[in-house]
Amino acid sequence: MLAAGTGAALAAALLSGASAADATVPTRAAAPDIDIAAVKADLGELQSIADENGGNRAHGEAGYEKSLDFIKGKLDEAGFTTSVQEFTSGGAKGYNLVADWPGGDDGKVVMAGSHLDSVQAGPGINDNGSGSAAILEVALAVAKANLQPAKHLRFAWWGDEEDGMVGSTHYVDSLASDEASKIDSYLNFDMLGSPNPGYFVYDDDPELEKVFTDWYAAKDIATEPETEGDGRSDHAPFKDAGVRVGGLFSGAETTKSQAQADQWGGTAGEAFDPCYHSACDTVSNIDDKALDLNTDAIAHAIWELSS
Ligand SMILES: [Zn+2]
Repeated sequence: MLAAGTGAALAAALLSGASAADATVPTRAAAPDIDIAAVKADLGELQSIADENGGNRAHGEAGYEKSLDFIKGKLDEAGFTTSVQEFTSGGAKGYNLVADWPGGDDGKVVMAGSHLDSVQAGPGINDNGSGSAAILEVALAVAKANLQPAKHLRFAWWGDEEDGMVGSTHYVDSLASDEASKIDSYLNFDMLGSPNPGYFVYDDDPELEKVFTDWYAAKDIATEPETEGDGRSDHAPFKDAGVRVGGLFSGAETTKSQAQADQWGGTAGEAFDPCYHSACDTVSNIDDKALDLNTDAIAHAIWELSS
């Protein structure tokens, strides 16, 4: 009798001990591997939108609005709360798309953003269909996993970056006075599948930089601090507002050096993206391996930083 009673009490104590441990030490699931085929399918859709709308997806053009509708439809279906923020630039209406994943601490918002507009000259598949499709698929993975992070997750697709970060600047300027301080971190993704790729990590914030550099190091891929496009994309207005920023970049019009070709492959003496801001920035202008790795790195960062 005594032994049985002791056993039951012990079992109860162990059970309550176990549940207390579960409550204080939540298990953190690893980020999923994002299917590159899904990212490429999104790029195919953006290419079709450009083909059917005068060859581009630029600010003020039908191809931009169709691109936004495409991304928004997928997010709405997955359970995101989406909103479209309107602004005016160069006499034309522009639009940002913002998607919130319900839940998490509103006072600690982890944001990922990409500009969705192309230049007039072409369909803008690497610049910046690549970043736009990558964060879309990471957002859809958040929904699929029914991720319940401690921090609040927000994704954004910016309008009219190509005329000087107009959409993202409008977003930051329209934040209420205490809202910027509630953004824990802003991650920017502008050109992730350059055909002669480099692996550049924004070095603005050491902690955010390390989340990415550790991930690549574990895969034996060298990275370099991002300097070529520094301040040339949508992280700039966030940084100016005092938000810590990070991000990834696979290179634009700058020439790849011999040392960079030695560590990353590809062609020394050629631009990272010879089709930068040109008509040839099509679905053919993508390095699948770079796009795949960068998309998986984003998923890792979102899981890691929001937990
Ligand atoms: Zn860009």
